[in-house]
Amino acid sequence: MGPVKLLLVEDEAQMASLLQRGLSEEGHQVDVCARGHDALTQAANVSYDAILLDWSLPDLDGVSVLRRWRESGLSTPVLMLTARGSTGEKVTGLRAGADDYLVKPFDFDELLARLEALARRGARATQTAQVGSVTLDVRRRALVREGAEVSLTAREFALASELFAHSGDVLSRSRLLSAVWGTDFDGLPNVVDVYVGYLRAKLAELRVADVEIAAVRGIGYRLRKVPA
Ligand code: CA
Repeated sequence: MGPVKLLLVEDEAQMASLLQRGLSEEGHQVDVCARGHDALTQAANVSYDAILLDWSLPDLDGVSVLRRWRESGLSTPVLMLTARGSTGEKVTGLRAGADDYLVKPFDFDELLARLEALARRGARATQTAQVGSVTLDVRRRALVREGAEVSLTAREFALASELFAHSGDVLSRSRLLSAVWGTDFDGLPNVVDVYVGYLRAKLAELRVADVEIAAVRGIGYRLRKVPA
């Protein structure tokens, strides 16, 4: 397959450089993070085709990193690496949102095959949703209009996805809240309004005139074409 863009999260320097070299030799582009917190930031800022995530990291463990990614709406395929092979840990990893799982020591060719399969799956899942002149590009996590694009944060993207998937429908605040922030969200309920504000600003940045996120008083919001 063509080159894919990978994030490798591994703190053991020797393993990280071995993997980076091997994957680069296959033509892939590999960024490396050694710490969980760095990985959280990196994946929020850069769009990857697949992520290779080690279970054991010095600050946040891999499962916690993965949970946070999934909670924030990041859907990039993740292959977890672990030195531990018990069924319980495999289940924990998969429940946290891992797409695949490999136990150390592993065969490099097997790792490569699985990673490429995941990246392909991610690419197939690539979708764009269009309303009026605006496209939501899932792979690039961006709003696009006439060749111009603005990228979205993970939360903005999750909110935009919900609105685009149900364009024309009125979505209640509580529905948006649980779809984007989860049912156990205990922050301020006006977070939805705040993020709708962010999305509106990004639409304005693209000079979108034919699509709006309309407030429906007492209920919530709907994404729609501006009535003529
Ligand atoms: Ca490690």
